[in-house]
Amino acid sequence: MLAEKPHVLVISGLDPSGGAGIQADIQAITALGAHPLPIISCLTVQDTINVHGAEPVSAELIRKQLQCLAADIPIHAVKTGALGDATVVRELSAFLRQRERLPLVVDPVIKAAGGGDLADETLLSAMFSELFPLADVLTPNGPELQQLGEHEQEADAARNLLKSGCNAVLATGGHGTGHHIENILYRADGSTENWQLKRVGGEYHGSGCTLAAGISAGLAAGQSLEEAIERAQNFVAASIQRAQKVGAGQPVPNREQPR
Ligand code: PLP
Repeated sequence: MLAEKPHVLVISGLDPSGGAGIQADIQAITALGAHPLPIISCLTVQDTINVHGAEPVSAELIRKQLQCLAADIPIHAVKTGALGDATVVRELSAFLRQRERLPLVVDPVIKAAGGGDLADETLLSAMFSELFPLADVLTPNGPELQQLGEHEQEADAARNLLKSGCNAVLATGGHGTGHHIENILYRADGSTENWQLKRVGGEYHGSGCTLAAGISAGLAAGQSLEEAIERAQNFVAASIQRAQKVGAGQPVPNREQPR
């Protein structure tokens, strides 16, 4: 008997420094027991310090990849990261709308940690109107939440973001200060759930990707959103505790499973 794993379709950008983007997603999804089906949305020029350029992959090529995969392989969850441009968002959203509802984790990537742009206004507005309404959860970090939710206060920004039609917003506290990181899940029904984690300190290139990808692996395996978040947070914390130096910029979470 061949082994079978849950499959996560993951669409995000290629970061050649290997810290963030699709490599982070592949590593996190694999470490958490699922099989990634990776589609690259954009190619970046990037080191561990910043993004210096990005070019989207053609939406037509992405459509062909989606159709080809879907005809052959069962898909159990979908995760998105940097999406390149609005035509990619439209292609993916059209694909998702044609299918039975799939668990969808959207990491609304806007900027690299060094400040380089990974999304422009047209891309963000396509994500807001086409992709967010299909999402089980959005995973913005603090600055992304403030920008997308158009409010400085986290709870207000999260409520504004829920108006896009997504089911929940996980506001992550990694960019804050204090001894603990507080991650808060804001659900569309108005309820919330919080998790507190010990802050290791520092910033890590690809930690947001790791969290969102980890959540998608849990959803693909049939976990509830809360279970998937809990497991993914612990995985991010462990990966950060054993982070590795790669270049002169932020360290990279070590997503290898300890043996
Ligand atoms: N996706 C890509 C392709 C990136 O290059 C980056 C950051 O540079 C991100 C996502 C976001 O990374 P993080 O997980 O550090 O928020």
